[in-house]
Amino acid sequence: MDGTLEQARLHDAGDPLRGFRDRFHFPQHNGRPVVYFTGNSLGLQPKGVGAALEQELDDWARHGVEGHFQAKNPWYSYHEGFRDGLARIVGAKPEEVVAMNGLTTNLHLLMVSFYRPSGKRVKILCEERPFPSDTYAMASQIAFHGFDPDEHLVEMRPREGEVLLRTEDIVSRIADLGDELALVLFGGVNFYTGQAFDLRAITAAGHAAGAIVGFDLAHAAGNIRLALHEHNADFACWCSYKYLNSGPGGIGGAFVHERHFGEDLPRFAGWWGHDKEERFKMERTFKPIPTAEAWQLSNAPVFAMAPHRAALDIFDEAGMDRLIAKSRELTGYLETTIDRVAEATGSDLEIITPRDPDQRGCQLSVVLHGHGRKLFDALTGHGVIADWREPNVIRMAPVPLYNSFEDVQRFGSVLEQCLSKP
Ligand SMILES: *Cc1c(COP(=O)(O)O)cnc(C)c1O
Repeated sequence: MDGTLEQARLHDAGDPLRGFRDRFHFPQHNGRPVVYFTGNSLGLQPKGVGAALEQELDDWARHGVEGHFQAKNPWYSYHEGFRDGLARIVGAKPEEVVAMNGLTTNLHLLMVSFYRPSGKRVKILCEERPFPSDTYAMASQIAFHGFDPDEHLVEMRPREGEVLLRTEDIVSRIADLGDELALVLFGGVNFYTGQAFDLRAITAAGHAAGAIVGFDLAHAAGNIRLALHEHNADFACWCSYKYLNSGPGGIGGAFVHERHFGEDLPRFAGWWGHDKEERFKMERTFKPIPTAEAWQLSNAPVFAMAPHRAALDIFDEAGMDRLIAKSRELTGYLETTIDRVAEATGSDLEIITPRDPDQRGCQLSVVLHGHGRKLFDALTGHGVIADWREPNVIRMAPVPLYNSFEDVQRFGSVLEQCLSKP
């Protein structure tokens, strides 16, 4: 494509997912929708969310406590209504996933069960620059067990002069750590570079070393193809407000591989994890549900789950196959647009996200050499909503559910205009 508006519109006309854009609310700038490239930070609001919330408000008004069983979507089993859709997104069996809590909370709950340092085996290996919350969670878990995070939390750094991690290096690092390694905890997609990791290879290497392997899928769920069950991960967690469009602070999710269901694991338990048949007997001894639901603590927060439910319905209609096909095209188009503008304006715009579509989702992270915050502010002034990281990195995610080729084209011409100004 040559970067003209006509070309972009032709592409949109041929996009089988084009109708989904209309099902989201777009913030406006000067009377037209912004170019919204921050679906990796907070996904847009699906138009169906209002009605989904109204339904629960009405049922609460109408039924009071009886709504637990009499509501249109009974609150007692509310999360079960969208469990299958969630499982399809992360490539799991329905009984292996559960929507609950927030992401960092889930990370802690899962580490209680799956980070069990003993003897020499104490270390956690993660990627360089994990999201800060993950670092705090891992370090505090290590300290909780009486060990020193500075010694036992190991960040995997790229080779000298490189930004990305090579799978072969991750695998050999895991083997080197060997019987000192208790847990490998990687992102599915790194929030900063946009690199998607090889979950199958990392899991196999971790297991070969005798370690547990878990993943934080905050930037992967709804973005890249996932096959948690088949790839044999032990556990995973994610949030729903990024690519899953389920609202600010929305409900998190967790995966536990079914092979762990019968195990006698340490756990911070709550009544909603207890065997459903006997939950209201209120017995003293905890009897875990034989699914990922065993990790639930509390009854369903219905007002956080209603948007999640509405948002997941859209994913099921669109289907991950079609979303990923479009994601590759759209991200490829953004990539060529950035390269073209860099050349046309003589600018040094370094895309640090992998060029290989198999190693990324829809996010591109770009180092703006020789530029700073001023360029980013100029983009914002033209109605482009992207994400800025000091000192000079811009992250953009053209989301296949609601972004268009025209969005990317508009971004390209705004960028070119901003870079051409003396
Ligand atoms: C967004 C994000 C978080 C945020 O954590 P919350 O508990 O949802 O506030 C944590 N980790 C990663 C990797 C993220 O991308």
